[in-house]
Amino acid sequence: MRGYSIRKRVLVTGGAGFLGSHLVERLIARGDEVVCLDNLFTGIKQNIEHLLGHPRFEFIRHDVTNPISLEVDEIYNLACPASPVHYQHDPVQTIKTSVHGAINVLELARRLNVRVFQASTSEVYGDPVVHPQSEEYWGNVNPIGPRSCYDEGKRCAETLFFDYHRQYGIDIRIARIFNTYGPRMHPNDGRVISNFIVQALRGEDITIYGDGSQTRSFCFVDDMVEGFLRYMDVPGRVCPGPVNIGNPREFTIRQLAEMVIEMTGAKSRLINCPLPKDDPKQRQPNISRARELLDWAPKTEVEVGLRKTIDYFDKFLSTEDAG
Ligand code: NAD
Ligand code: UDP
Repeated sequence: MRGYSIRKRVLVTGGAGFLGSHLVERLIARGDEVVCLDNLFTGIKQNIEHLLGHPRFEFIRHDVTNPISLEVDEIYNLACPASPVHYQHDPVQTIKTSVHGAINVLELARRLNVRVFQASTSEVYGDPVVHPQSEEYWGNVNPIGPRSCYDEGKRCAETLFFDYHRQYGIDIRIARIFNTYGPRMHPNDGRVISNFIVQALRGEDITIYGDGSQTRSFCFVDDMVEGFLRYMDVPGRVCPGPVNIGNPREFTIRQLAEMVIEMTGAKSRLINCPLPKDDPKQRQPNISRARELLDWAPKTEVEVGLRKTIDYFDKFLSTEDAG
C-alpha cells in the first residue's frame, strides 16, 4: 500500500450502478476519497448525482475493457451488468467486461501493489445440485447457454484473480454475491424484486416465470455493502476467498410475489409466464465462512428491506409520472 496517503483513495468500477453507488456512499461517509469509474451501460448518473461536486468524489466515464491508468490505494471491481435482461443484451460485451475487465483491474493492482476486490456471484454455482451452496462447491454451469456469458465470465474472472494471486502475489478478495435488492435497483432491469414491486405499484399483473416454485435468497443492499467493507478490511494477504455474501433465508418466487402484493395492497393478479432457459431451481448461501472470517451476517429482515424498497420505487415512479 502507498504509505503516504492520509486517507485512502479507492477505485470503484461500476460505481454508478445499484451496488456500486451504495458502496461509494459508504466509502465517502467513512472519509475515503473515491474514484468512480463507469461506462454508464446500466448505471445511471442519478445514482451518484448527489456526490458530483463532493471534494472527495471523482467520476470517470470509462470502459473497463480498456486499460486503466490511475493512482489508487485500493480497488473494488463491480463493473458488469447484473440482471439477465441486461447481460444477455450484448453477451460478447458482457464476457469481455468480466474477463478483460478483470485483467485490466488486476494489472492496475499489480503495478500499484494494492488490494483488489472482485464482485463475483452465486451464478458461479449455476443450477446447483448441492444445497445450500458453500464455497467448496464447484458448481453446475452450462458453458454454452444464454446465461453463460455472465456465469462463465465471472468464473473466468475468479480464475484470473487466483492466478494473479498465486503468480504475482496480488492481494485479492473475491465475494460471491447472492441476490441483492434495495433502493436504486433499476426499475426496468428485469430482476424479480424490481419487476414485482413496479408491477404491484402500477396495478399490473405480476409475472411469475414458470410455476414460481424456484427459490432465491434475498439480501438487503446495506448488509451486502457492510460485508464488502469488512472483507476488504481484513488485514494481511491470507484471505483471497471466495466468500459467499448473502441472506440465507430462502423464498419461493411465488411466496415473494404474495409478500409484495400484501405489502403494497395491490390488486394485481399473479400470472405464469415461460421459465427462461437454464433458470436455476434453487439458491441459498451457506455463509459460515463470512460469519467466521468477517464476523458478518445479514441484519435486515426481508420484510423491512422490502418496505424500504417499495417506498423507494413508489417515490421514483411518482416523480417519473409527474415528469
Ligand atoms: P448494475 O447493473 O446496477 O451495476 C453495474 C455497473 O457496471 C453499472 O453502473 C454499469 O454501467 C457498469 N458497467 C457495466 N459494464 C461496464 C464496463 N464495461 N465498463 C465500465 N462500467 C461498466 O448491477 P449491480 O447489481 O450493481 O451489480 C454490481 C456487481 O455485483 C456486478 O459485477 C454484478 O455481477 C455483481 N452482482 C450483483 C448481484 C445483485 O444481486 N445485484 C448479484 C451477484 C453479483
Ligand atoms: N422471475 C420471475 N418473474 C420476473 C422476473 C424474474 O418469476 O418478473 C424469476 C426468475 O425466473 C428467477 C428468479 O425470479 O427464477 C430470480 O430472477 P432474477 O432475474 O431476479 O435473478 P437471477 O435469476 O439472476 O437469480
